[in-house]
Amino acid sequence: MSTIPKWLADTVVNVFDPWLYTAEVEDMTYLSQDILSVTFTGEYYRTGFLPGHEIQFRVDDNNFRHYTISTFDELFGRFTVIFYLNRKGPGSDWVTHLEKGDILRFHAERSDMQYNKNTKHHFFFGDETSIGLFHGFKEIAHELDHEYLGVLELREENECALKELSLLLERVEESADAPAVNSIQWMEDMHENCWEVWKNATYYLAGRIYSIQRFRKYLMQRGVSKGQIRVAPFWGK
Ligand SMILES: Cc1cc2nc3c(=O)[nH]c(=O)nc-3n(C[C@H](O)[C@H](O)[C@H](O)COP(=O)(O)OP(=O)(O)OC[C@H]3O[C@@H](n4cnc5c(N)ncnc54)[C@H](O)[C@@H]3O)c2cc1C
Repeated sequence: MSTIPKWLADTVVNVFDPWLYTAEVEDMTYLSQDILSVTFTGEYYRTGFLPGHEIQFRVDDNNFRHYTISTFDELFGRFTVIFYLNRKGPGSDWVTHLEKGDILRFHAERSDMQYNKNTKHHFFFGDETSIGLFHGFKEIAHELDHEYLGVLELREENECALKELSLLLERVEESADAPAVNSIQWMEDMHENCWEVWKNATYYLAGRIYSIQRFRKYLMQRGVSKGQIRVAPFWGK
């Protein structure tokens, strides 16, 4: 992700100041070695925050990074974000240095990636970075008595995060050189009767750009319409 000069980052923060929210780090829980769930508290009455909302933190002098609200509790002024620590960039570095009691500022905005309340079946495709999004959507699905299914491209050591969250999604091995290929094979192995039910679902594709592109193309080749597919490219080229 791009890095900008400090003076520009300072200017952005000053210009956006009236629209920035404040958050205190209330709790931090590792769901796996590289997946960290952080709970933030603050005054969020009538903000309209929802799972899937984009938020942006300034992670150092020169960088801002995007993350996603996973769950939100308006009454208690509390939201969670699930961070994947890729250990390669300033965002990941910033997250590893967070501590309980830290006070932060952030910008929030509604994303196109919203839960579709009009369908009963919801299919999730993604990777470590989309666990928070899909955990939030899973909670909505439970509330509405909807069904969800999905497949995530995860490193083996991160699979335990799904169990911690009771997120019942299939894991396939991620492959840097063959994005989405293992997930597409998993779809191909799906029983025909199962496909009959799920072919009309709403599909949410989030995470690595290449994986999303391939998976979307595959779905469309199988007859899933554009209108059924929602995408949120989070990282990579
Ligand atoms: C709208 C939006 C919402 C997002 N929500 C979340 C969220 O809730 N949780 C979350 O963890 N991330 C989320 N992301 C993704 C996150 O912003 C990126 O992964 C970001 O690149 C991390 O910044 P960084 O400084 O750690 O790494 P960068 O400096 O951006 O990248 C450093 C290197 O790491 C590589 N890299 C970045 N991400 C990954 C990865 N996942 N796996 C392997 N290599 C990677 C880059 O390609 C680059 O080579 C979201 C992104 C967007 C746009």
